[in-house]
Amino acid sequence: MSPVADPARYDLEGLRDRVLAEEAGEVDDSIPELAGADADLCAIALALPDGTVRGSTQADVPFSIQSAVKPFLFALALLDTGGDALHRIGIEPTGEAFDAIKLESGTGRPPNPMVNAGALLTAALVDGGDVEGRSERIRRGLAAFAGRELDVDEDVARSEHLLGDRNHALAHLMRAEGTLEVGADDAVAVYARACATLVDAEALAVMGATLACGGVNPVTGERVLPERSARDVVSVMATCGVYDGSGRWMRSVGIPAKSSVSGAIVLSAPRTLGAAVISPPLDERGTSVRGRVASERLSDELGLHVFG
Ligand code: GLN
Repeated sequence: MSPVADPARYDLEGLRDRVLAEEAGEVDDSIPELAGADADLCAIALALPDGTVRGSTQADVPFSIQSAVKPFLFALALLDTGGDALHRIGIEPTGEAFDAIKLESGTGRPPNPMVNAGALLTAALVDGGDVEGRSERIRRGLAAFAGRELDVDEDVARSEHLLGDRNHALAHLMRAEGTLEVGADDAVAVYARACATLVDAEALAVMGATLACGGVNPVTGERVLPERSARDVVSVMATCGVYDGSGRWMRSVGIPAKSSVSGAIVLSAPRTLGAAVISPPLDERGTSVRGRVASERLSDELGLHVFG
């Protein structure tokens, strides 16, 4: 086995060059704003427990966070419900696509917080009263994870809300089951805005590091989440974060992570670091192709596989 590299000195630029050679995958076309993404955007960032943040070329280019927001929505729901969110959502992997129109049989709960049904519910469980209040609460909560202010891409938010038919269907289904208490359209609006939050690879890496560091943001020093809740969130990322590719991901990368249709992946290596990769072309399960390759390399070369 080759020696494990030091994350503080690891050659991120070299890794970026290596993964850029990978040309497979298709950019998501669910909304015009994502369809127009630059297929050659590629950035990798690391955030370490001592607060060091390192980024490759393009690590400051903004993109919409999309489903990489889901661990953080779960975290905010845990915070704002005093842990009750754990009883309102399942935590089992589905083996199905992220937007499957399916709830837990018997309970009508969403199967887990990493699929759309779960994230529609967690976004509805945060404090705030109405769409604006909850969106503002989420904006502030995400900023605490990132250690800086974050904007929302209004065009992405609007398109997600208008074109997210499966999300509307899921929200109505949860209303019918009694598991979603807010209005279906309001739930989709809040979730759409959360997905439209703009981050860059460095900000997303810090968000991942905050979970990896037991809920304390290593850059600001702020405790954003109780340690037990951070453990809960990272556990569910490990089992459900890459949807129907979660088992394969755990074997080959071995770092709890969350994928998204913008091509972003956020990784939380417990007690070791947070990382983020952005590259829009996706495989058939909606995971960034270059993001997966970069994550495998990072895991191998930095010795990050949790069972390694
Ligand atoms: N906004 C997307 C949706 O709800 C997020 C999905 C994802 O990134 N996998 O359809």
